[in-house]
This record gives sequence, C-alpha cells and structure tokens, in this order.
Amino acid sequence: MTAAGAGEGGRLIVLVGPAGAGKTTIAHRLIDRKPARRGFSVSHTTRPMRTTETNGIDYWFVERTAFEQLRDSGGFAEWAEVHGHFYGTSLHEIDRMRDEGRDALFDIDIVGALNLYRQLPDRTRLAFLLPPSWPVLVDRLLKRGTETETTVRRRLRTARRELEGLVASSEPWHVFINDALEPTVEAMESLFAIRAPLPTDVRHHECVQAFLRDARLDPLAADEPPPT
Ligand code: 5GP
Repeated sequence: MTAAGAGEGGRLIVLVGPAGAGKTTIAHRLIDRKPARRGFSVSHTTRPMRTTETNGIDYWFVERTAFEQLRDSGGFAEWAEVHGHFYGTSLHEIDRMRDEGRDALFDIDIVGALNLYRQLPDRTRLAFLLPPSWPVLVDRLLKRGTETETTVRRRLRTARRELEGLVASSEPWHVFINDALEPTVEAMESLFAIRAPLPTDVRHHECVQAFLRDARLDPLAADEPPPT
C-alpha cells in the first residue's frame, strides 16, 4: 500500500439502499465526473453472470469453492450472503484503488457496509440512498420487466430489513433522497469533500421514518411465514 493521505484517494464511499433507488446510475455518474480519481469497487460473487454483465467489470464471477478459499485465507475485507449467493470485497480491490490514488465507490448490502466502516472508519463514508417514497419504490419494481412477484417481494423485504438496520445503526450515515438524478448526484459530491465521517442521527430523519412506517405496513414486504 502507498502512503496516500487524505485528498489523494483511498476513501471508501459506500452506497446502500433498495434496488430501484438508483445506486448504480448514481455511482457511475459520480465516477464519470472524475474518472481518474474515482473507481467502482468490483466485488466477487458466486451468483451466475447475467447476459448484460461482464466479468471483471460488474463482478468477478467465481465458483463457490474459489470464493470460500479466498474468504478462508483472509482475502476479503467484508463478505455476506445475499439471496443465497456469496458476495465480497477483496482486500486486493481496496488496496488497488488506494495505490492508484482513487476513491472507491461500493454498491454493497448494509452488512458489508457496516463491516467496512468498522474496519476502516476514517476512510469510509456511509450513504443510504432512497427513492422519494415507499409507493414509488414499489411501483418502480413492479414496472421493471425483469421482476417476478417473488423477486419483487424479496427485494421489498430486503429494503424493509435494510431500513430497520439503518435506524438501529449508530454509525454516521448520510441519507440521500433520489427525487431527481442530477441534484442527487450533486448533493452526493459532498461525500468526497468531508475529511472525517460526520455524526448524523438517522433516527430523527423524517423521511426515513415515513419510509419505514410504510414498509412495515406493506404486506408485500412482510416476512414469509415459517414452513409448517
Ligand atoms: P445483485 O446480485 O443484484 O447484483 O446484488 C445483490 C445484492 O448484493 C445487492 O444488495 C448488492 O448491493 C449486494 N452486494 C454486491 N456486492 C457485494 C459485496 O461485495 N459485499 C456485500 N456485502 N454485498 C454486496
């Protein structure tokens, strides 16, 4: 690792939020603004590659045994099981970005985000991205041609659980509401400017509370009953 200091890259900008909040689009917009200074952290996954994806760009697609070997030899900064597949951020990926003097953007789940923060609190900025409201999120997922009812329910359940995790977390989260793309991207620029994580208390964030209230009331986001 090089000794790059603050302002010379090495920040970990972690984007968490429901599928349908616009995380991928926003991450790429932020990178396009300063491509030499920012990059996307490419995770490893055991999930099968989709036809729209490229190995080494979207993920490193690996077999379960290869993932387990890397994990057991301490090669991951964090990893999690999401929807039955393993996902993880390799230490190599984090070191590579830092050595290149770049800030890394992550699209990972809340468990991975908190693990990264706990290991590297000075370098990590936690961002939670939400669409304008719960009904908008439900509508976006239902209108996506690629989703079945089962996957919509699963994504909404995950969204509710991640919101519960956000509200229960004592880490410094920065919440952004993606009601219009460009203003949201502009607002998120602030994540690169702050020198240290700022204390924030999301429990007092009205919009988060409204989101969570709707999520808890929505039967589509309810936990599945245990098998009888
Ligand atoms: P997808 O399979 O749809 O690309 O991603 C499923 C979920 O896995 C998303 O919530 C995504 O944020 C999460 N994810 C992707 N890469 C990682 C990773 O490296 N670590 C963790 N903890 N979660 C990840």
